[in-house]
Amino acid sequence: MIEIPGFIDLHTHTRYPDADKFPYNDIDESAINGGFSTLLAMPNSEIPIDSIKNLKIAQEIDKKLKTKVHRVGALTKDLDGRELVNYKEFVENGITIFSDDGKSLIDDNLADEAFKKISALGGAIFQHCEKSCHSRPGDIAPPNADNDLIPINNDEELEVLARDLNLSEKYGTRYHAQHLSTYESVQLIKKAKQEGLPVTAEVTPHHILLNNENLDTNNGLFKMYPPIRTEKDREGLVEGLQSGVIDVIATDHAPHKLETKTVPFKDANRGVVGLESAFPLIYSSNIFELDQILKFLVTNPLTILEELGYEIPKIVNTWKKSKSVFITKSKYKNSLFENENIEIQRVLSNV
Ligand SMILES: [Zn+2]
Repeated sequence: MIEIPGFIDLHTHTRYPDADKFPYNDIDESAINGGFSTLLAMPNSEIPIDSIKNLKIAQEIDKKLKTKVHRVGALTKDLDGRELVNYKEFVENGITIFSDDGKSLIDDNLADEAFKKISALGGAIFQHCEKSCHSRPGDIAPPNADNDLIPINNDEELEVLARDLNLSEKYGTRYHAQHLSTYESVQLIKKAKQEGLPVTAEVTPHHILLNNENLDTNNGLFKMYPPIRTEKDREGLVEGLQSGVIDVIATDHAPHKLETKTVPFKDANRGVVGLESAFPLIYSSNIFELDQILKFLVTNPLTILEELGYEIPKIVNTWKKSKSVFITKSKYKNSLFENENIEIQRVLSNV
């Protein structure tokens, strides 16, 4: 038996508040099964977290979970990139992190204003970097033989990231790059950190465990933003974690009803679940030592959230080393790791 602090996920899509299409207790169950005790909820729910009214609706539900859920405010109204949210109101309500995750804030003038305002308020911008997210959303990373699928080139991520790093330097804005997927992004973050910018970055378990060689474009489970890329990119992300350039592993947990993933790739919804599989799969991959994994899943996300004023409960979970296959227990099974071999299991008490 191993005692391990509860993990902190900087990137969860709770889906709720959403007229109960995705019950909140399923997020709770996924987090508990995966050993996560704190989640940072992205604002792209059915009711977007772009006003204090909507924030309060979400927080009322958050209180019902055993897992601690912290909130992120939207960067723009309805996350559509056209009108900035009133950040001051959010900060007054304890929310200091802003993101349009699922989309990027593309408009350069609005981005400049957002970085300036959020810096003045002592907040942070968490950015999903993807240049064509509003204009021409893509499907898959190159190389790709299917002409019907729109490629998502590495530049999609790099252009937004490079612009943001300049804005972070201009205004001193605290910046966190969400779910990086390219080799070159790691080099940009490395340079920004060397220059002393207030910058951190995250990567998902699927981007460090998988590459796009032999990716099955008949399987909608493989559709996600950002896409799984080449082995060179995967190795660059792993090296980014090893060298401390990337700080955090975050799940990008995104429950989808299976019927939206079992359709042709082009039509499939984007994203996979990840809370339950994150730790067992990373541990079993033997890429990192346990103390490194704890840095990526506990210590570093804790530091980031505490610095931004979020309180984190101190929980300890018990795990046992035991070989088995990974099976998602929650209702939403859009996992890339179903039936993979794992070497450690969460010991559940009375949940
Ligand atoms: Zn995202």
